[in-house]
Amino acid sequence: MTDAALQDRIRAGLRDVPDFPEPGVTFKDITPLLADAELFAAVVEAHAEPWRGKVDRVAGLEARGFIFGAAIALHLGVGFVPVRKAGKLPGETVGLDYALEYGTARIEVHADALTPGASVLVVDDVLATGGTAAAACTLLETCGAQVPGVEVLVELEALDGRRALAGRAVRSLLTV
Ligand code: AMP
Repeated sequence: MTDAALQDRIRAGLRDVPDFPEPGVTFKDITPLLADAELFAAVVEAHAEPWRGKVDRVAGLEARGFIFGAAIALHLGVGFVPVRKAGKLPGETVGLDYALEYGTARIEVHADALTPGASVLVVDDVLATGGTAAAACTLLETCGAQVPGVEVLVELEALDGRRALAGRAVRSLLTV
């Protein structure tokens, strides 16, 4: 599939849900894409192939980053690391608080999830303000890992998430 054909298929595989989870937000629902096995596989391959042999782990951001991240990790034959919301991981954790539009949020990884110097690819479904992905990169680096890149399915251009990730290699399969 060409890049343009894949972008068309991804666009068709997303459902815009207005005013979810709150008024004013148009939620990008990925479930139609996930239900299309051929498209899901093409998306995973497109995310993963540039990183073959270049990363030791894939880190997925809760929750939809788990779906793509785990599949990408399997495709690459490397391990998967969940980056979770506060209080979800059972073992000893390392966490980071980061700013939201209103208030703060916290993400965590298991303290023993990464060996120092590990090269970790960060994966999520949607890049909006970039705050979550930027916090994940910082958290993983705090754990001694290197983050060579961030892969997202959809980038919401108007929110300029790349600014929060300045200096990082950010790749989106579709920009809207
Ligand atoms: P942000 O930190 O603003 O870049 O937000 C990114 C996180 O929020 C990702 O984990 C996305 O899954 C989720 N998210 C933000 N905006 C949307 C949206 N319009 N549709 C679906 N998910 C979104």
